[in-house]
Amino acid sequence: MKLYRFIRKPPFFLQAKFYIRKKDNPVKSTKNSRKAVIIPVLLLQFGSIRDKFKNFSIVKKAFKTSFIELYKSASSLKRNPHRNNKIIDNQTLKEFEDYAKTLGVSKIDYTSINRDFIFKGFEVLYPNVMVLGMEMDKDKMKTNPSDESTAEIWNAYSNLGIAVNKMAEWIRAKGFNCHPSPAIGGDVMITPVAQEAHLGYVGKNGLLITEEYGPSLRLAAIFLDIENLPISKANENPHKWVREFCEDCNKCVQKCPGQAIFEKTKILDDGYPQFIEREKCAPHFSKNCSQCISACPFIYGNYNKIKSSYYEKRATAS
Ligand code: SF4
Ligand code: SF4
Repeated sequence: MKLYRFIRKPPFFLQAKFYIRKKDNPVKSTKNSRKAVIIPVLLLQFGSIRDKFKNFSIVKKAFKTSFIELYKSASSLKRNPHRNNKIIDNQTLKEFEDYAKTLGVSKIDYTSINRDFIFKGFEVLYPNVMVLGMEMDKDKMKTNPSDESTAEIWNAYSNLGIAVNKMAEWIRAKGFNCHPSPAIGGDVMITPVAQEAHLGYVGKNGLLITEEYGPSLRLAAIFLDIENLPISKANENPHKWVREFCEDCNKCVQKCPGQAIFEKTKILDDGYPQFIEREKCAPHFSKNCSQCISACPFIYGNYNKIKSSYYEKRATAS
């Protein structure tokens, strides 16, 4: 039996839904929504026991913190002030973003939630979302596969969990409601949500590629009912060219030891792309692999240089 296909939700006390009241009128998933995959369950089932024990000793502190923060996020929903405070002034928003930066958040953008990206059967309290990205140290990630890069990934997961909860308490103290959703155990497919916020664009490796950090970033969200957030009105994502660049690059496809990344991204019946085969990836991910990050030229190169040489090459070819 494929355990990860059977266990699609964390225990009830770690789910936001358990703390949301009916009268809160939450935003719900749709019939097109995808089922969640609980990564620790997936990893439990694939890969060698020896690798798992070895890796667990590297990440156990961050792993434990991630779960504590997941509990704090969900249970904190009871502390929303419910003051109908829905307009934020520029100064308070700036202070909020500055506070996020002191917690290690590297990148912030905003969007309204596309309900199709809420995991099936999950709920979020509010329709607007602040998407947060935390950089993973590029030099550590370039050493992949290594204990150092694995520790860096899990540290980013746990630090993002700490950051969203501290930020939630900060904004509640200003009288606003929120729903913090950490990187581990989040309520939505965070990568396409981040793409809709124009934080970057999803590459062939299924990761968000950003201007400053390439794919070396972890993502989390805070849902808000603030109505005047600076949500981009532009329809076209300025980073869309990255996906076109991927078509000729394929470095992650070639480097992937599990042959888990589709060279031609699969489009599923619901129209949403599938970038990797989880079952082929999991045995390698469970033994330190993140070569889809370390192989990507955007972790080494200057985004704007890559962009201009890509467009020059394209112009010469046409
Ligand atoms: S983690 Fe490793 S196996 Fe998994 S998709 Fe990335 S490169 Fe492939
Ligand atoms: S390695 Fe190349 S193909 Fe893969 S995500 Fe990065 S740019 Fe795209």
